[in-house]
Amino acid sequence: MSDLALLGGKKTLESVEEGDIFRWPIITPEDEEAVLAVLRRGAMSGTDVTRQFEEELCAYFNLPYVLCHNTGTAAIQAAMWACGVRRGDEVICQSMTYWGSALQVFSLGATVVFGEMDPSTLTLDPADVESRITDRTKAIIVVHYSAYPTDMDPIMEIAERRGIKVIEDVSHAQGGLYKGRLLGTIGHVGAMSIMSGKSLPCGEGGFLVTEDRQIYERSVSFGHYQRSFEVEDAELVPFQGMPLGGYKYRMHQLSSAVGRVQLKHYDERVEVIQKAMNYFWDELEDVPGIKAHRPPSESGSTMGGWYAAKGLYVAEELGGLPVARFCEAVNAEGGSFGLRPGANPLMHLHAVLNEADIYGDGKPTRIAFSDRDLRQGIGSLPVTETLPERCLSIPWFKHYRPEVIDAYVAAIRKVAHRADELCA
Ligand SMILES: *Cc1c(COP(=O)(O)O)cnc(C)c1O
Repeated sequence: MSDLALLGGKKTLESVEEGDIFRWPIITPEDEEAVLAVLRRGAMSGTDVTRQFEEELCAYFNLPYVLCHNTGTAAIQAAMWACGVRRGDEVICQSMTYWGSALQVFSLGATVVFGEMDPSTLTLDPADVESRITDRTKAIIVVHYSAYPTDMDPIMEIAERRGIKVIEDVSHAQGGLYKGRLLGTIGHVGAMSIMSGKSLPCGEGGFLVTEDRQIYERSVSFGHYQRSFEVEDAELVPFQGMPLGGYKYRMHQLSSAVGRVQLKHYDERVEVIQKAMNYFWDELEDVPGIKAHRPPSESGSTMGGWYAAKGLYVAEELGGLPVARFCEAVNAEGGSFGLRPGANPLMHLHAVLNEADIYGDGKPTRIAFSDRDLRQGIGSLPVTETLPERCLSIPWFKHYRPEVIDAYVAAIRKVAHRADELCA
């Protein structure tokens, strides 16, 4: 009989007390009190708590403008419009991401072109971006995917040279650094989700942060009708009182209240997560088949709150064992592994991006206003298309408890060293 639990052996994690090591978000009486105070005042629909939260976020990012939204999807859509994305225009984004990085572009009558990804970072490959730019390209949306900071220097260089805006989708990476700079402050605008699962959790919500007053004011006018009376831009003033987007995007104040408390404790919680996750990867350094998804320690770049932690999978080192089978064997070792092969489904291959005629234009929305068929079928992004086989979710530890982490490491190590038993 094999040692592997999947093949009848003893489970590595049978007797591990993992407690709340995976529990997220961390909610304490402080969050509860903050929410109750808003409820008791009946202030769920105002903006006073949200504006306090915005001030605190401005201080956190050290930038002058933050605008809270009811979702990250909304904040990213507003950022697109504020960056000048209009009918027939294009944005560039990576294909392996949550759809809310890019799909909103259809609502603006614009479309998305997917660029190749770097297989070691799971972010947009700067070397590929420039060839995707056309005279319709208005923005590059970079996603700091699973918290890995996108290589921003070359992307900003290309964008400045070609007169294109850069929107950072920071939904996975609040508090992360790129060469010492806070993510979200490098592009023209940072936009992100802070829904409950994200590393900065508030309930449901999102926000954008920028140094550019025009981007801020346009975003206000797009989805915040009451606040539109505060804009000064002559292009926007005539439309005060109604939202140009036809949307109502203000943040629910119960979310703002939670967000304020979470932000206060955020850096301290991120530090603990980084300690735990770096320990996990250090312990796995010599194990074949699985490689850390984190920047080199001397780079000045960090993984923030390590949202939706991923590992890189190298099947060749395990006799070609498919990643799904590897995950199955690790999960069988017990505990709360729940490892999954791959990551978000590739957007460029999904029917919504290729077939759906959402607004009745008589052709797929993806190309409804394009003068060419820019759809990208199977084989169009050869590197990106290998990624579902080359990455996997890994445990996302929220506390530094070496004895628990060691047990998880031992389970992965055991499966990796006995991979030949699974290949047979
Ligand atoms: C969660 C997420 C969003 C969308 O945010 P919501 O608040 O859920 O609307 C956008 N981009 C990425 C990468 C995400 O993970």
